[in-house]
Amino acid sequence: MPMPKGYTIYDIDPGWLKQKYEVEGLSTTDIAELCDYSARHISRLLDKHGIKKRSRLEGVKTEKSREKRSRSMTGKMAGEKNPRYKGGYISSGYMMIGGKRYSHTVAEKKYGRKLQAGEVVHHINGDTLDNRPENLQVMTISEHVAMHQVGGGYRKGMKPWNYKRRKEK
Ligand SMILES: [Zn+2]
Repeated sequence: MPMPKGYTIYDIDPGWLKQKYEVEGLSTTDIAELCDYSARHISRLLDKHGIKKRSRLEGVKTEKSREKRSRSMTGKMAGEKNPRYKGGYISSGYMMIGGKRYSHTVAEKKYGRKLQAGEVVHHINGDTLDNRPENLQVMTISEHVAMHQVGGGYRKGMKPWNYKRRKEK
C-alpha cells in the first residue's frame, strides 16, 4: 500500500493504533519500530487518542521486540558497531550519532537524497545495529508495516495512516 501521490502522512490512524496496541498487544516500542518513530512519540499518540496505556510491568510482558533487541545487542558492540566508536549511543536498539539514527544517515548517503516524511529505513537482516548500506532499505511506513506483518499484518479494511493532501505552494 504505497502512499497516494500528492499526499503526505500526518498521523497514525487511531483505529489502527488501537488494534495494534489493545487487540494485538504490541508495546509502544513494537509500534515505534514499525513506524521508525520513538516509543515516546507513540506513547504521546496513545494519550492523544485516549487509548488507555498499560502499566510498565504489563507492557514488558507483552512486548515482542524486547527479546529480539536484547539478542541483537549481544556480541555486537565491538569495533565499528559500538556507537561510541563514532561518538554516538544506542537508543531503543538503534544507533544514534549526532542526534540522529545512524541508519538514516547511511541510507541518505546510499540513496543520495534526504529521507522524506513517511519513509522509514528497514534493516534487511533484522539487526537494527547493522547499518551497512547493503543492509538498509528505504520504504514507506505502510510498506514497512505490511512487510513485517506483525500480529498478522493488516486487518481487512484497516490502514495504519491517515493522509492529507499536500498544500500546493
Ligand atoms: Zn524493518
